[in-house]
Amino acid sequence: MGTDQALLYIVATPIGNLADMVPRAIEVLQCADLVAAEDTRHSQRLFAHFAIDTPLVAYHDHSDDKRTGQLLQKLEEGQTIALISDAGTPLISDPGYRLVREARNRGVRVVPIPGACAFVAALSAAGLPSDRFSFEGFLPAKAGAREKALRELAGDPRTLVFYEAPHRVADTLEAMAVAFGGDREAVIARELTKAFETMYLAPLDELTAWVRADSNQQRGEIVLLVRGAERRRDSALDGEAERVMKLLLAELPPRRAAALASEITGANKKALYNWSLEQK
Ligand code: SAM
Repeated sequence: MGTDQALLYIVATPIGNLADMVPRAIEVLQCADLVAAEDTRHSQRLFAHFAIDTPLVAYHDHSDDKRTGQLLQKLEEGQTIALISDAGTPLISDPGYRLVREARNRGVRVVPIPGACAFVAALSAAGLPSDRFSFEGFLPAKAGAREKALRELAGDPRTLVFYEAPHRVADTLEAMAVAFGGDREAVIARELTKAFETMYLAPLDELTAWVRADSNQQRGEIVLLVRGAERRRDSALDGEAERVMKLLLAELPPRRAAALASEITGANKKALYNWSLEQK
């Protein structure tokens, strides 16, 4: 498949169910000159299933500069290389960033072959708002660092998405209940696309108890999703409008205070009135 133009394909592979492999991914892996894989032994199973016999080399983000340099040199010679990870989309909590960045720096064309990605699959079916979300990857393993990371996310209004290891999931849910409040909704998405696929939505307190009570829920591969923080309903008022409203409300009924404050500050009269009702 050697061409004059250097070409690096970033190829997504299934996250469990091999039937999720997209035809274009099979074709690219079959036709590439070389496939760089996170774990070559792991990828051999995929290769055997799809009758791919392209040479495999190991690549991970700890690969030394020499290995990265060798791959870049082959690309510059016109070879086509495909990067895969053990499962899902490379670079999503997986190796590849250094190679992609260096390749781009050298004018190599980098082409994505989209496919499975655990957090996208989880988000698409979780039933939590998906218009805005923050993918947080893995939380720190140590309890103190994890709690700090969660505290920093507590006010984020976006749906929060995490990858988590099965032996930590119960403790993490408990830490989330402390940081976000036990009534915040969350979803555990486990073993997606596989035989024991499970998705369960509940407030964090209930979800933690459910996971603790059933050791099966502490097995396999897991995505955790947490509803974002409720926006404070009075946040629509800026500081000046709030100050004026507080002064006027001390002397006037809400409707009159809102009308006057609207004239003084230019803020929306209805928003001012609604805000005054929330103060009671
Ligand atoms: N690159 C992958 C992707 O696109 O999703 C993620 C790689 S990361 C090293 C592995 C983590 O992804 C697992 O620990 C788990 O949190 C999540 N994961 C992978 N496969 C999954 C599945 N079938 N069901 C639920 N979570 C999965």
